[in-house]
Amino acid sequence: MINTKYDVVILGGGPAGLAAAIAIRTKTNASVLLVDRQNKGEVRVGENCPPETVLLLKQLGVAKEFYRGGHQTCPGYASVWGRDTPGYNDFIVNPQGPAWRLNRQAFDKMLADRAELCGAQISWSTRFIDAQKHSDESEGFILRLVKKSEDKECNVQARFVIDATGSTASFAGKLDINKSVDDELFATVRFSTLAHGRGSKQIQLEAFEHGWCYHALLPAEKVVSMVVTEKKHLATLREAEFQGFNDLLQSTTLIGPSLAKLDLEQSTYHTYCIRSGVLPAAEGCNWMAIGDAVASFDPIAAQGIYKGLSHGLQAGEKVLSWFENRENSQLRFSQQVKSQYGDYQRNRSHVYHLENRWSNAHFWLNRQHLPL
Ligand SMILES: Cc1cc2nc3c(=O)[nH]c(=O)nc-3n(C[C@H](O)[C@H](O)[C@H](O)COP(=O)(O)OP(=O)(O)OC[C@H]3O[C@@H](n4cnc5c(N)ncnc54)[C@H](O)[C@@H]3O)c2cc1C
Repeated sequence: MINTKYDVVILGGGPAGLAAAIAIRTKTNASVLLVDRQNKGEVRVGENCPPETVLLLKQLGVAKEFYRGGHQTCPGYASVWGRDTPGYNDFIVNPQGPAWRLNRQAFDKMLADRAELCGAQISWSTRFIDAQKHSDESEGFILRLVKKSEDKECNVQARFVIDATGSTASFAGKLDINKSVDDELFATVRFSTLAHGRGSKQIQLEAFEHGWCYHALLPAEKVVSMVVTEKKHLATLREAEFQGFNDLLQSTTLIGPSLAKLDLEQSTYHTYCIRSGVLPAAEGCNWMAIGDAVASFDPIAAQGIYKGLSHGLQAGEKVLSWFENRENSQLRFSQQVKSQYGDYQRNRSHVYHLENRWSNAHFWLNRQHLPL
């Protein structure tokens, strides 16, 4: 049952929100409620993490569970990008070891279980609707929530709010703080089950005239394939019940032959809008935005989960200062987010500038002109 008052309410139970719940409850006795509009255990997108993710999981105290969680290593990337022949980027010299291909359901459950074990209360299927500042500023906010199963609203007082609602940044929006967005792309993703066949542990990336494709074998006999493009090409991909998507992947020179060796079943298709952007203000004295809510990246960066976990840990530090009434590190997080977004913009530009085989195609022309 949801109470009427909490020290901290976390809006959103993705990697950022769950990591924040663990970090805060590990460092403080603050009462913590986390709400998420999704149902418990609902599948999420994103499964590729850099080697350094393990360092964050150690800090969150879940490294042992992670190693036992059935996730698979990824020795590197194979890509056809900027040239017609494959290139390889291996993690062999990385001291943290290989990158990871996650079993996303097991990963999310691991974080949620740990957050609850630490004493955070989680309410799934609960949507955040609105926020109002409390008449006494030190008392934080009154949040309006709706639990799906009950279909009735409740008001909850939060002395500190963490916006971890992903790229929509719903709480920041209620404060009239909106992201400046510098790019918009669309990902069409196919999740399948592997009936027969074997493939490489490498993640495969391949550019084409109107975007790029991604393909990976995942734990538990799952396979993910994705096409990232601009909105105007979505209709072609969806033609004849996604035959357009399948035809495009088959025509690629690296991913096409890999897919031909696999027998896939139970395929489901999903479309995601991907906006790259950053909030002009990441925090106030009794709120902060973390993960994709504060800065969302193109998945070419493969940093979303890592960023979410790392911001969650930083939320733990900020709430500790606030809880102990110490001078808080208010601007430090904002400055870090700004500089992180600048690094992301430079890296994104570097990657898209490597491809110039279709210099007149809109997708590549538009990516050449992204802000630095
Ligand atoms: C197609 C695609 C592929 C990707 N692949 C990768 C990848 O391979 N590796 C990687 O690292 N990153 C990847 N990403 C990015 C990654 O998914 C995100 O960066 C990451 O999930 C961000 O974590 P988060 O916790 O900040 O937000 P999210 O994971 O988006 O979580 C936000 C949560 O808030 C909840 N929520 C939203 N609004 C409300 C509301 N009003 N009330 C209550 N709850 C709410 C949502 O239900 C959601 O659970 C990918 C993204 C896309 C779109």
